[in-house]
Amino acid sequence: MEGSLDEKTLNLMKQAFKQYYFKAGDRISPPSRMNEREFGYIPFGGSMIRHLSFKTFGELYALLVREAPHSVFYSAAYYLEPTLPMHEKGWKGGDLIFDIDADNLQLPCRKDHNLWTCKGCGLKRIGSRPKKCPNCDGGSISELNWACEKCLEAAKNEALKLIDILMKDFGINKNEIKVYFSGNMGYHVSVESKEFEELDQAARGEIADYVSGRGLIPESIGVFKRATYESLVENLPRIGEPGWRGRLAASFANWKVDGFGDGDTREKIAALYGKIRYSKFKKRLEVEMLKIGVRIDTMVTTDIHRIFRMPGTLHGETGLLKMLCDDLVSFNPLNDAVVLSDEPVDVFIEYSPRLQLKDQIYPPFKRERVKLPLMVAVYLAGKCLARVV
Ligand SMILES: [Zn+2]
Ligand SMILES: [Zn+2]
Repeated sequence: MEGSLDEKTLNLMKQAFKQYYFKAGDRISPPSRMNEREFGYIPFGGSMIRHLSFKTFGELYALLVREAPHSVFYSAAYYLEPTLPMHEKGWKGGDLIFDIDADNLQLPCRKDHNLWTCKGCGLKRIGSRPKKCPNCDGGSISELNWACEKCLEAAKNEALKLIDILMKDFGINKNEIKVYFSGNMGYHVSVESKEFEELDQAARGEIADYVSGRGLIPESIGVFKRATYESLVENLPRIGEPGWRGRLAASFANWKVDGFGDGDTREKIAALYGKIRYSKFKKRLEVEMLKIGVRIDTMVTTDIHRIFRMPGTLHGETGLLKMLCDDLVSFNPLNDAVVLSDEPVDVFIEYSPRLQLKDQIYPPFKRERVKLPLMVAVYLAGKCLARVV
């Protein structure tokens, strides 16, 4: 988030959130094992209040209606005493969590919608942040992250890849996997399972590395420096094999190699290896793994004390709902997660990229006063791009 909001704008957002929470009693359900989790929230215009615990859902819901917070969080971890300082809480276990954020996908559309601001001279430009400001040569530059439809579609695709791996390679039951739209830039995938809940940081790190395909080298699929054509044909992965071997075999099927059609993948790849040899093959494999591995934020999976936005609550930077996606394929975040009203509000916009919400396009705005539906005004105000006039 960049800049800060004036009283009037904060008030509009808080009122909008309050209206939602007042009516949302049946949209919000308490997380499992509620009594063992730590809760926290950020009030509008305030800073994080943590180490809370609620005995009943009624208590928690009362806080939402009373405070209408900017953000509400709960721990993925289960504790003996959630309200005590971190090292005294008594960690018992936690959901296995994956965070997929469009911001980490390095998508080309960032240059069309991100906005950077030089903290030295105030210069603002559309695009990804440069290393140095072209105006004052300063290196302190902030960047506003923005998720367009393409960004969110790409993030969804990563979530689908992840769920496939969790089910096929880890044998996790579909009903133990929950996928949520984060309310802003991506998706949270959470596994609640007796088998995984007690895993420590290192074990979670290994799972994170596995799903992202990190550490997979030519040797992992039978390709050694002095490999012969015959040994490669013997050892390269076949289509239909479990795990990364099978996934890679399916990728290899799409590689174009002169003289080969749709025939046996292993012979084609063995022939290719004969031409390009080890280090070039290793490079191509790395590029392929970037494509088919799941791009998650590894730090999030390994941080066993982390708190996450609570499902059913609003994201203070967008006014969108963090929500469970029952059918991820058909889920459309910029429609389905919009819960605020379309009551018109007068705002002044310094700058905003093109925004699509509820099937309407709101053009890029630049230094203008406009009347916008509340849901759009809150989205832009949440990103500190609009203020109420
Ligand atoms: Zn500058
Ligand atoms: Zn985008």
